Amino acid sequence: MVEMCCHDLHSHSTASDGTLAPTRLVERARSAGVDVLALTDHDTLDGVAEAQAAAEGSGLQLIPGVEISVSWRSMTIHVLALNVDPGNRTLGEGLARLQRFRDWRAREIGRRLAARGIGGALEGAERFRHGRILSRTHFAHFLVEAGHAASLREVFRRFLVKGKPGYVAGEWATLEEVVDWIGQAGGLAVIAHPARYRLTRSKLQTLVGEFREAGGVGLEVVSGSHTRDETLHMAAVANEHGLLASCGSDYHGPEKPWVELGRLPPFPARCRPVWQAHSWPKAVAA
Ligand code: AMP
Ligand code: MN
Ligand code: MN
Ligand code: MN
Repeated sequence: MVEMCCHDLHSHSTASDGTLAPTRLVERARSAGVDVLALTDHDTLDGVAEAQAAAEGSGLQLIPGVEISVSWRSMTIHVLALNVDPGNRTLGEGLARLQRFRDWRAREIGRRLAARGIGGALEGAERFRHGRILSRTHFAHFLVEAGHAASLREVFRRFLVKGKPGYVAGEWATLEEVVDWIGQAGGLAVIAHPARYRLTRSKLQTLVGEFREAGGVGLEVVSGSHTRDETLHMAAVANEHGLLASCGSDYHGPEKPWVELGRLPPFPARCRPVWQAHSWPKAVAA
C-alpha cells in the first residue's frame, strides 16, 4: 500500500531569509497538514535545533536540511541537503566558508549601491536580518522600505540581479565539494528548483550528469516555483537519469500568499520519491 502523507522538503525560517522563526514555521506547517517538513535555510543549519524542539511530540517529523549555494559555470545553483547530521564537521566548515563569503559580499553590495547614490544599504539590510545569514532578500526589504522600488520583485529586477548596480557575482562552493559535504553528513543531495535556472536542454543534461557523477541523488521535481509543464519536464529528466524526486514549497513566509506550506501538486507518474531512499528516516509515531 502507498503511504499517503504530506511532505514539504524545502522551507526557510528567520535563520536565513524567511520571515517566520523556526518554531512558528513548524506550527504553521502542522496546521497546514504537513507530516514531514524539511527546514532548508540558505547556507546555515542554525534554525534546525529550534525546529526539532518544536516538532518533538507534535506529530510532525522534522528533517534537518540546508539549501547550499553552488557556483557552476558562472551561475548560482542551489543544492538541497536533506536529512543531514547537523553536527557534522565537514559540512559545518563548508557552510562557515560560504557564510564568510556572504559577509564580504554584503559589504560589497553596500559599497556598490553607495557608489550609485544609495547610502546605508548594509546597515539597512542588517535591520531585516534575524540570524547569521545576510541575504539579497534583506537588501531587497531595505530598498523597498527606502522607496527605491515598489515590490521585492521590482527591486531584484532593477538592483540585485546580474548586470544591475547591486549585483556581486557569487563565489560559492563547487558542485563536487557540496555533494561531498552532504554525503559526509549522511544526507541526500537534491538539485533545488531546477527549472529556475533557465538552462538550455543540453546545459541541463550536463548539470544533471555532473551532479549524478559527483554522487547527487535527487531532483526537486515538484516546487512551489514550478509550473505544471516544468514539473512534467523535470520528472522526465529525473527518470531519464535515475534520480529520486523531491517536492518542496520553498516557503519564505506568509507575505507571499501564493506559496503555502504543503500545498503542492502530486508527483507525475513513475517518479520515485526521495523518501524511498535507504537512508531516509522511518516515520516516528507522535
Ligand atoms: P542570496 O542567496 O542572498 O543571493 O539570495 C537569493 C534569494 O533571493 C533567493 O533565495 C530568493 O529568496 C530571493 N530572490 C531571488 N530572486 C528573487 C526575485 N526575483 N524576487 C524575489 N526574491 C528573489
Ligand atoms: Mn531565499
Ligand atoms: Mn533557492
Ligand atoms: Mn529556497
